Amino acid sequence: MSGLDLPDPVVRHDVGPPVDTEALAAALTERVDGEVRFDAGSRAAYSTDASNFRQTPIGVVVPRTVDAAVEAVAVAREHGAPVLSRGGGTSLAG
Ligand SMILES: Cc1cc2nc3c(=O)[nH]c(=O)nc-3n(C[C@H](O)[C@H](O)[C@H](O)COP(=O)(O)OP(=O)(O)OC[C@H]3O[C@@H](n4cnc5c(N)ncnc54)[C@H](O)[C@@H]3O)c2cc1C
Repeated sequence: MSGLDLPDPVVRHDVGPPVDTEALAAALTERVDGEVRFDAGSRAAYSTDASNFRQTPIGVVVPRTVDAAVEAVAVAREHGAPVLSRGGGTSLAG
């Protein structure tokens, strides 16, 4: 512990095998009613909100319906890909 008595940082351990992004993109494109974007420009655009934090996503999915969102999460789970929901991207918390 540091002199300021701060808690030790939480270090993420390995969370499993790397995601096969090509297979993930192909499955999402085939099964999800919506936009599936794995290009660098879209990933850069969705790498931040209104804060200074930057985290480049594996890919971006814009589902057209609730069912499409459910299917996108199912595909991500099958491929071991983490999912982060996004609204207007105006959060200041990163
Ligand atoms: C200029 C400015 C002024 C602001 N003023 C205020 C203010 O007065 N009061 C205030 O409270 N906030 C304020 N904010 C912060 C921000 O607008 C709010 O936090 C807002 O609620 C974020 O909504 P969003 O849709 O943009 O969320 P995003 O930034 O897209 O996401 C924010 C969080 O919500 C999660 N999330 C988004 N959509 C979903 C979903 N459908 N299901 C599950 N989780 C989801 C995301 O994963 C993320 O963790 C301000 C921001 C800016 C840039």
